[in-house]
Amino acid sequence: MNKVHNFSAGPAILPQSAIDASILALQNFSGTGLSLLEVSHRSKEYEAVVAEACQLVKDILKISNDYEVIFLQGGASLQFDMIPMNFLKPESSAAYVNTGVWAARAIKEAKMFGKVNVLASSEEKNYNFIPKDYTIPTDVNYYHCTSNNTIYGTEMFTFPNSPVPMICDMSSDIFSRPFDVTKFDMIYAGAQKNMGPAGATLVIIKKSFLEKANDNVPTMLNYKIHVENGSMYNTPSVFAIFVCMHTLRWIKSIGLEGMEVRNKAKADLLYAEIDRNPLFTGTVVKEDRSRMNVNFVLSDKALEAPFLKFCEERNLSGLKGHRSVGGLRASLYNALDIDSVQILVNTMQEFEKASTHAAVAN
Ligand SMILES: *Cc1c(COP(=O)(O)O)cnc(C)c1O
Repeated sequence: MNKVHNFSAGPAILPQSAIDASILALQNFSGTGLSLLEVSHRSKEYEAVVAEACQLVKDILKISNDYEVIFLQGGASLQFDMIPMNFLKPESSAAYVNTGVWAARAIKEAKMFGKVNVLASSEEKNYNFIPKDYTIPTDVNYYHCTSNNTIYGTEMFTFPNSPVPMICDMSSDIFSRPFDVTKFDMIYAGAQKNMGPAGATLVIIKKSFLEKANDNVPTMLNYKIHVENGSMYNTPSVFAIFVCMHTLRWIKSIGLEGMEVRNKAKADLLYAEIDRNPLFTGTVVKEDRSRMNVNFVLSDKALEAPFLKFCEERNLSGLKGHRSVGGLRASLYNALDIDSVQILVNTMQEFEKASTHAAVAN
């Protein structure tokens, strides 16, 4: 079969080493003679997987012992509820910035549990930029931001110096570049964008912040319970964490500095073609352009469907924009090789030539 270039926004491309290890483990996990799908999560072989996955997260991000690392279920979306349930106090409020659909959903959920102060929003500009001109109040329980807006293609490359605990949804750009974990009290990410398959959610939480959590939080939604039980209060997503572990091994072998070089090269290559090619236009302000999700449109909307077909014929998959915004989106997550981006760029140039000929013929 010809190689398919996977530009999907999520679930998304994974390193081949993680796929290969998964295939083997489905047949015989860690020499147990059992499939990974049928082993106890409390077997010593599997406990070693969870321990290694958490340790790899700590190694890669250089996380100190001031933090806990756990894997949960329910996706990043359940974090939108767990965060206010655990940290929003009844008589207080929390600060959020609205930079896209996921940020807006986090705000919507937090409002069910208390007062929310939306410090800034780019909604009126169809989320085409990251607001930077706001002050985080000192009297809120926490400040919440979204580092990469997967649907719109904007990314925060710097983070504010928050006077209150900073919580970040890093679902779609975690492990794509180095950053200073110590600025944050909590970081979370659904695995299926840059770290593994769907079904696992990574949570990194500062111990001193965890101590401030509310009492009377339902058990399964209570961070303290999951931390005390080492991600094993109930059955974890056994398969997903295994694939995360292998993906994290691959990320560690490259390192975050190396990953940033790779990711920057891919994004620069594609944005340069979008800016050069008269058929295409980028949709967000240049300084906030995401390296993970590249959103663009065809200057002539009528060419969108033919272009997508053109891509499909060349084994380029997953380029259709999110159903809520339309246009095109190329997701360039860690595991995507620059060769795939080069093929997309070649395809855009080929399409340019083909449509110029068609216009001349008309
Ligand atoms: C995909 C995504 C989510 C939602 O993740 P689920 O795991 O589907 O709940 C939340 N935030 C961001 C930034 C995302 O990219």
